[in-house]
Amino acid sequence: MKQKTVLITGASRGIGAATARVFAQAGYCVAANYQNSEQAVQALAQEYPRQIFPVQADVADRKQVEAMFEWVRTNLGAVDVLVCNAGIAKQELFTDVTPESWQRMLDVHLTGAFHCCQCALPDMLRQKWGRIITVSSMWGQIGGSCEVAYSAAKAGLIGFTKALAKEEGPSGITVNCVAPGVIDTDMMAGFSQQDREALAEETPTGSLGSPQQVAKAILFLASEDADYITGQVLGVNGGLVI
Ligand code: NAP
Repeated sequence: MKQKTVLITGASRGIGAATARVFAQAGYCVAANYQNSEQAVQALAQEYPRQIFPVQADVADRKQVEAMFEWVRTNLGAVDVLVCNAGIAKQELFTDVTPESWQRMLDVHLTGAFHCCQCALPDMLRQKWGRIITVSSMWGQIGGSCEVAYSAAKAGLIGFTKALAKEEGPSGITVNCVAPGVIDTDMMAGFSQQDREALAEETPTGSLGSPQQVAKAILFLASEDADYITGQVLGVNGGLVI
C-alpha cells in the first residue's frame, strides 16, 4: 500500500508538532507547515529525517498556501490527509479588539482552513479518498470571555467542517473537527500557575490536556477505522465541555 502523505499546518510547536510525531510513528510521510519557528520545525524533522519535512507558509496568504501545496505535491506526493491546526490566540476585552486584530484572527483560523482545503481537495477528489481534520476549540462550542474573536473564528470552523463534510461525503472524503479543551502548550504561556491549577481542578479528569492526547484523536480520525465518521466535533477536553 502507498505511504500516505499528511500535511499538518502549524506543526512547528504544540499540538501540531505532537501530531507530526504521531503520524510519523504511524508510518505517514509528514509535511510539517510552519510560519516563523524554523529552528523548532527543523529539530522536529531531525527526529524523523525520512518522514517529517518542513514547509513554510502563512496559511492566511493564498499564494503562499498554493506554493506550499505545489511543493508538497512535487516532493512528497498528493496530500491524502490535511490537518488544519495553525492558530493564534489573544485574550482581550471585546471593546479593545481592533478591526486588524479581528481580521487576522479570522484570516488565520477560518480563511486559512478555506485556502488549505481548496488546495487539497482536487487531488482528494481525483483519488476519491481523503481525510480533513480541523482543529477548533471548546471556546468555539461555548464561547470564551475575552476571546470573542477567537471563539467566533473557532465556531466558524465548526460550521465550515459540517458543511464541507456534507459536500464531500459522496466523494469518499471525510471532514471532522477536534475541539480541544485546555491543552498544555505555548498558547497557555500567559496563564499563571494558580490559573493552571484552577483550570485543572475544574476539569472532570483533574488535569490539563497534553498535545499528544489531541494528536492521537486526530490520528484516529485520519484512519480507515474512522471511515463512517464525518461532520463530527470530537471534544478532547477531559470532560470540561459535554
Ligand atoms: P501553539 O503552541 O501556539 O502553536 C501554534 C502553531 O500555529 C505554531 O506551529 C505556529 O507556527 C502556527 N501558526 C500560527 N499562525 C500561523 C500562520 N499564519 N500560518 C502557519 N502557521 C501558523 O498553539 P497550540 O496550542 O498547539 O494550538 C494549535 C491549535 O489548537 C490552534 O488552532 C489552537 O487555536 C487550537 N487549540 C489550542 C488549545 C490549547 O489549549 N492549547 C485549546 C483549543 C484549541 P510558527 O510558530 O512557526 O509561527
